[in-house]
Amino acid sequence: MRLKNKVVLVTGAASGIGYAVTELFAKEGATVFASDIADPVTAYCEGVEALKLDVTSEEDWSSAVAAIIDKQGRLDVLINNAGIIAYEGLDELEMKEWLQMIAVDQTGVFLGMREAVRVMRRQGAGSIVNISSIWGSAAVAGAHAYHAVKGAVRNMSKNAAMTYATQGIRVNSVHPGFIDTPLTQAQAADLNDQVIDSTPMKRAGKPIEIAYGCLYLASDESSYVTGAELVIDGGYLAQ
Ligand code: NAP
Repeated sequence: MRLKNKVVLVTGAASGIGYAVTELFAKEGATVFASDIADPVTAYCEGVEALKLDVTSEEDWSSAVAAIIDKQGRLDVLINNAGIIAYEGLDELEMKEWLQMIAVDQTGVFLGMREAVRVMRRQGAGSIVNISSIWGSAAVAGAHAYHAVKGAVRNMSKNAAMTYATQGIRVNSVHPGFIDTPLTQAQAADLNDQVIDSTPMKRAGKPIEIAYGCLYLASDESSYVTGAELVIDGGYLAQ
């Protein structure tokens, strides 16, 4: 029960890492609001309430957080997890794809942090976890927009950590390596093989292995941790 009495909002919770975070957090005693862009999923364990939240929408954010405050009176943890990927290199990237990536993976994190911080400042406490990527601090060829947004999320997290460090709000980023989720399952097999082969542990990570990192950062066990980057990548970035 490492999250007993915590009220948590998870974005992109219908799939992959967000689903694993939702299930683990509920088992650890949290009341979890599991949100996603699609119609709310109902196949969660006990302690989970599904919400529809498109992270690119200011209105969705304010009504989702208002609904949580209405029901629970507080918001202790925000897991900014929703994300998309695009593979185009710089010279082939269309404006539409660039703007879409910024909207979901970067503006979504901005809007979520802003909404959460407004509540957490009044509470004098809160933990925000933003899901970046190994591609937020290292690079491979292609996927220009994805590298841009994940790098931005890394530094937005540090800035928010500095801004609210004395107000009881902690902000950290998590940097997964290659994780087996619907997002990577939809990628070309040779691309996946390449990344796994470049990973020292020579295997894909599991969503639950990211969820356990989020659990530490969400819980009071990490009470002195803010502005940190938690890398969970089978050793990729250590090379
Ligand atoms: P996933 O299985 O595709 O899950 C992402 C979820 O986010 C999906 O349910 C997706 O819905 C949802 N989503 C997309 N656009 C949204 C929006 N505008 N508002 C709300 N939800 C939205 O992906 P994942 O692998 O679990 O990725 C989760 C996070 O980890 C992402 O930020 C990703 O960049 C990051 N990450 C993943 C890996 C990896 O190897 N898997 C590595 C590093 C970082 P739809 O399916 O309907 O689009």
